[in-house]
Amino acid sequence: MSTKKRSPVASGKTKVLFEVEEQPDVLVVQQQDAITAGDGVRRDVIEGKGRIAAKTTARVFQLLNLCGLPTHYLSGGVDDNQMHVRRAHMIPLEVVVRGVAAGSLVRRRPGIQRGALLVPRLIEFFLKDDANHDPLIEPEAIVAGGYATPQDVATMSELARITYEILAHAWRRRDALLVDLKIEFGRLVGGEGKGQLVIADVIDNDAWRVWPQGREDLMLDKQMYRNLKTVTPADLERVRANYEQVADIVETFPQMRPGMVGLLVDGAEHLAASELAARALAAFGLPTIRHVVSVARTPGYILQLVTQLEATFPRMVLVAVGAANSALPAMLDSATANPIGILNVENPHPDELALACAKAFALEDTVVFGRVLLLQANARSEVLGADAKLNAPPPAPAPGAALA
Ligand code: 5GP
Repeated sequence: MSTKKRSPVASGKTKVLFEVEEQPDVLVVQQQDAITAGDGVRRDVIEGKGRIAAKTTARVFQLLNLCGLPTHYLSGGVDDNQMHVRRAHMIPLEVVVRGVAAGSLVRRRPGIQRGALLVPRLIEFFLKDDANHDPLIEPEAIVAGGYATPQDVATMSELARITYEILAHAWRRRDALLVDLKIEFGRLVGGEGKGQLVIADVIDNDAWRVWPQGREDLMLDKQMYRNLKTVTPADLERVRANYEQVADIVETFPQMRPGMVGLLVDGAEHLAASELAARALAAFGLPTIRHVVSVARTPGYILQLVTQLEATFPRMVLVAVGAANSALPAMLDSATANPIGILNVENPHPDELALACAKAFALEDTVVFGRVLLLQANARSEVLGADAKLNAPPPAPAPGAALA
């Protein structure tokens, strides 16, 4: 993408936004070398921090996009500190998700033990207002203040929670605990999906708390800088090294772990059903390999095939596709230690099969994990939407209409 930047349109404490020539709906985000704390009262410059932060942000957004979450991220940022994003009207709120009690929560609510697991996750909104130290704001006040509608508040809460779970999964796989996270939202100003709420701003090492091995004393995030009594060059070098380490870890977040679903079809007449399963699996980005087999006629081939597939695909789920009385599931159960799925062609549920396979891969694959979470959230909102429609008050009669 061309990067003919124009003058800055906005700047924050640690970033500058530029317009792009001939692309009114696109902005370039450039992160700065500044690090600040206490609403900007403490401020230092760490050379290279902007580049490191841009890399972290770009990888986080790539992960969220791969999972299917709506974000403003388009491209760039990884090597060039030139992240291209869709232009959005920012909602002046910081949305904080907490999975473990720390920070301002334990200061505000001393009854909550620092380090306590928070289930369900706690979602808090803060109004972006440096002069008043970004005060906590309740959903009712957000609506009353005209910052967002009740529906927007619900959407932001749900998207923030899913974002937290996805990033917590990614960190957990690197043996680290994501304690909390701050994200911001905007509304797309133009183009496809105009008006849609998207996750915007930046998500970097300033915006979360990360405790390796669940130990606060090993923290890698900005809290270390906030905690400093005085700031020496050696301190800043340690902070820089932590940020670099985090960027290197986050670099691998958007990678899918290659997996395979082997569909073994017990009889060529069931190929059409296996096609349905392959399509449902593709919705999660899961690749499939199909073989026609016959328990009655080619039992030896089935055993040989299983061994061959196991040797080729280290992460694999095998699915038996066949009639309800097919002996294939039992045969596969004794032939392999891999998870087994069943598609009964007399009563096929390909979507449920695909979900079960995705969950198996999701244990080790954050992208698939995120896709499962999003699918579940969409299914929930479909039900809630249908219920709301069913119970909506009748439309007001048109002026002048006769009353029954
Ligand atoms: P707390 O309210 O406990 O201070 O912060 C909760 C979470 O939001 C922490 O992960 C913290 O890093 C993040 N956070 C709070 N305020 C800001 C802010 O102004 N900028 C950024 N980038 N993150 C923030």
